[in-house]
Amino acid sequence: MSMITNHMPTAELQALDAAHHLHPFTTGNEINAKGARVITRANGVTLTDSDGHQFLDAMAGLWCVNLGYGRPELAEAAARQMKELPYYNTFFMTTHVPAIALSARIAELTPGDLNHTFFASSGSEANDSNIRLVRTYWDVKGKPSKKTIIARKNGYHGSSMGSASLGGMSAMHAQGGLPIADIHHIDEPHWYAQGGDTDPAEFGLERAQQLEKAIHDIGEDNVAAFIAEPIQGAGGVVIPPETYWPEIQRICDKYEILLIADEVICGFGRTGNWFGSQTMGIRPDIMTIAKGLSSGYAPIGGSVVTDEVASVIDQCEFNHGYTYSGHPVACAVALENLRILDEEGIVDRASTETAPYLKGKWDALADHPLVGEARIAGLMGSIALTPHKESRAKFAADAGTAGLICREECFANGLIMRHVGDRMVISPPLVITKDEVNTLSDRAWKALDAAHARLKDEGLMKAAS
Ligand SMILES: *Cc1c(COP(=O)(O)O)cnc(C)c1O
Repeated sequence: MSMITNHMPTAELQALDAAHHLHPFTTGNEINAKGARVITRANGVTLTDSDGHQFLDAMAGLWCVNLGYGRPELAEAAARQMKELPYYNTFFMTTHVPAIALSARIAELTPGDLNHTFFASSGSEANDSNIRLVRTYWDVKGKPSKKTIIARKNGYHGSSMGSASLGGMSAMHAQGGLPIADIHHIDEPHWYAQGGDTDPAEFGLERAQQLEKAIHDIGEDNVAAFIAEPIQGAGGVVIPPETYWPEIQRICDKYEILLIADEVICGFGRTGNWFGSQTMGIRPDIMTIAKGLSSGYAPIGGSVVTDEVASVIDQCEFNHGYTYSGHPVACAVALENLRILDEEGIVDRASTETAPYLKGKWDALADHPLVGEARIAGLMGSIALTPHKESRAKFAADAGTAGLICREECFANGLIMRHVGDRMVISPPLVITKDEVNTLSDRAWKALDAAHARLKDEGLMKAAS
């Protein structure tokens, strides 16, 4: 077979892709008929496709390339590690320097006494580990009935059987027999979509108190943990009302429920602090990390637990682990990523300079006739598309129809934004400059104008009744 390179004609690459590649979260017949977009190169915040088109990647890949593309130091760190020790495991009484160094560095960066990391290769795996960790924790403490994990509708925690069960995506649960046993979902704190006439503060409290009610219904002795993203990402960048997290923390403390903060998106600078838990003022017992940990340059994730949780787990043999838990190359890449994020002041600058600048531009989008609200925290933001601003109305058309049209117009204008139903979301690399923020904003306005014109032409600016 001949070498497959970036220099083949796009149509040939697309034909081979259609013939042999099954894609995640994609309708195969659709991508095979249309031809996949082939991304060939990237630098900074800019992607290039096989036809030479360039795009400002306002999603940082899948919320992960915090450092931006094209940093040679990470490639060099990987090459150095591969030459020295490409692989060894961390099972059965062994360890290696990259896993030691990365776990120690994570302990320094995370707040409080979150000092111990169990490594995985992804956020999904890490959340599967969390299910095992919290149930084992209560088992060792002599409370084996504490098994149920409470999570949220429309939360996202990954795509494996366990992590997708924790997640509250109904389309995912509909395939493959999910959720697994002893997972319970409460409503999300999504005021814009679900708050009706209530005041956001009151709504936030009500949604948090659903946790207390669920604990009463299921029985305090049967609940192991509550898991949530500090700010929901894949659910549409849903920033909860300010009343929400303090009430959740109060309830977890009162009933001795372990709090798992899924920091896979929020971690490593995304929300204006190193961790979303700091932005939201919460004290998790366990943090899930992945994505920005390596800025996507290598697959790695983990569960970071407190001294107390580690001291309990340490009492048993934990019969769980992955061949690639603490993979030395992935650890070396993550360490180099963390070094640069810190030493170049990227997290600080994103928080103090870029985020306020982007917020100004982003908030202004709320004046667009197609936009019902614009929200942003640090460098993760969303806008709600609506046919009728005042009533926060949904479209009469199927959810996602307007969002998809808007996403197509973003691509046509050299901008990658993702749509979640009829919300548009961004999560750009933390290295984005003010100039690039201007470009992002200009292209977003153009895309919204074009989407609005198309929706009007196609008779889609109708509100659901
Ligand atoms: C992406 C994501 C995951 C899953 O991570 P993978 O690396 O895709 O397995 C888990 N939790 C959150 C909050 C995520 O955004």
